Amino acid sequence: MTSLALILGDQLNKNISSLKHVNKNEDIVLMCEVLSEATYVKHHKKKIAFILSAMRHFSAELEKSGYNVEYISLDDKKNTNSFESEVQRIAKKYKCKQVIITHPGEYRVFHNLELLKDKDFNIKWIEDDRFLCSRIEFNNWIKDKKTPRMENFYRYMRLKHNILISNNKPVGGKWNYDKDNRKPANNETISPKPKIFKPDSITNNVLDLVEEKFPDHFGELKPFELAVTQKQALAALNHFINERLMKFGDFQDAMLKNEPYMYHSLLSFYLNIGLLLPHEVVTKVQKAYESEQIPINAAEGFIRQILGWREYIRGIYWYKMPNYSAKNYFEAKKDLPEFYWTGDTKLNCLSQCIKETKQNAYAHHIQRLMVLGNFSLLTGLNPIQVSEWYLIVYADAFEWVELPNVIGMILFADGGFLASKPYASSGAYINKMSNYCKSCHYKIKEKTGGQACPFNYLYWNFLDKHRDKLSKNQRLAMVYSTLNKMDPDKLSTIRVNAKSFIDSV
Ligand SMILES: Cc1cc2nc3c(=O)[nH]c(=O)nc-3n(C[C@H](O)[C@H](O)[C@H](O)COP(=O)(O)OP(=O)(O)OC[C@H]3O[C@@H](n4cnc5c(N)ncnc54)[C@H](O)[C@@H]3O)c2cc1C
Ligand code: SF4
Repeated sequence: MTSLALILGDQLNKNISSLKHVNKNEDIVLMCEVLSEATYVKHHKKKIAFILSAMRHFSAELEKSGYNVEYISLDDKKNTNSFESEVQRIAKKYKCKQVIITHPGEYRVFHNLELLKDKDFNIKWIEDDRFLCSRIEFNNWIKDKKTPRMENFYRYMRLKHNILISNNKPVGGKWNYDKDNRKPANNETISPKPKIFKPDSITNNVLDLVEEKFPDHFGELKPFELAVTQKQALAALNHFINERLMKFGDFQDAMLKNEPYMYHSLLSFYLNIGLLLPHEVVTKVQKAYESEQIPINAAEGFIRQILGWREYIRGIYWYKMPNYSAKNYFEAKKDLPEFYWTGDTKLNCLSQCIKETKQNAYAHHIQRLMVLGNFSLLTGLNPIQVSEWYLIVYADAFEWVELPNVIGMILFADGGFLASKPYASSGAYINKMSNYCKSCHYKIKEKTGGQACPFNYLYWNFLDKHRDKLSKNQRLAMVYSTLNKMDPDKLSTIRVNAKSFIDSV
């Protein structure tokens, strides 16, 4: 019996579970570039090029390893441009009785494929093994937790996978070294550049194709310097461990003008399409710590991101879908401002982060969270529009990871299921962690008035406006106590300034 294994664009690993069920002598592997995936939102040009180029390289590697690959390119005249119809067409062509699919990462893709019914074949679903915690395991972990928190899940994962553990205890005696981390940067904090990769002929063909087919999509296509094969992604990982991880913890939250990468790894691109697997990243980092190449605060801080946050976010997504995307706790309705697409705004922090996003299809976590996310929360932007923006603009964005970060983490739109309090802050945080304020039109020290940093009054206005939903939160007790003591005239000026700023955006 001939089977057809469908490999999606984010499943580019030879160890992916579906391939383990493929008989190289008689089965077919199907990979297809479908227009609907590139256009259901207008993804950043670099993101489309990255995924298509990585798919083409992966298909060539599979063929070299002896698989029978049917690769449908975007410009193939027979391409019907949806996964469902391509599966049907190719299954018929080879008279396949069975279609094998590793569970898709995104609900939308899973749902569409699940609806596919055909009398000539059945679908065999296999668990997605690109993660360390399966959906079933996560659901079992979370089901009896009243207030699930990432930190508890992370400890569970450390113990289970024996990562930075000695005698059932965390190495060094602490689970978390954040106190040693998160130093502000200064102009002398110049990080070594990340590893870059020159496009080969496959990538150059893809770049031409993207330019031709998606000219009106967001973002700059060139320079294109991302890894597109597993070998290159491993080189990027090794380079990060050797050159940059050492100071990852120290400057994890720091932001500097014209330094888009700081000491971050830039590995989310590769992890999210399967070129790297979380286990190999985490064990390599653990080895670097054991060989005294890096300090514990860097190793633990980085491992927490992958073993903790990344797995937790993905678990929450599947636990909460399909209704999670409609959450809107604060009933935020405002349309996304036009400058989210151009970066043309007088708020220097936003301008920097948006222009870097446009250029690189990347912004690091604190830019996404404390600048762009904070602004979206404080100005009451519509969660659906914010979510779509994040999905479009980052090359590592897939709904399973983007959505909980937007709905749960930055917008608190799930009412506090993911985060214990909103990540809201005045301009003081951005000023402490960056040098953006030094060259801003607005004055960070001013709290109200036309020259004042808008984050300063937007922050208090947000807390004031949502008293009914937030003031009982224990973690906000101190700020509400300050707000309650605020001079009524000052509060009234804050409200007026915030209203006029939000109306003008
Ligand atoms: C609003 C918002 C949207 C985001 N959207 C995405 C997204 O679409 N895709 C994505 O991969 N990450 C997303 N993140 C998480 C995080 O910002 C990125 O993973 C990180 O910036 C990627 O850069 P890096 O590889 O240099 O990460 P590093 O800072 O070097 O961190 C290492 C790795 O940890 C993982 N990680 C860290 N934080 C998170 C997190 N909160 N959720 C999931 N994984 C995490 C990533 O795999 C990352 O590669 C988002 C965060 C926010 C606040
Ligand atoms: S002053 Fe305010 S708006 Fe300007 S860069 Fe600083 S935080 Fe951003």
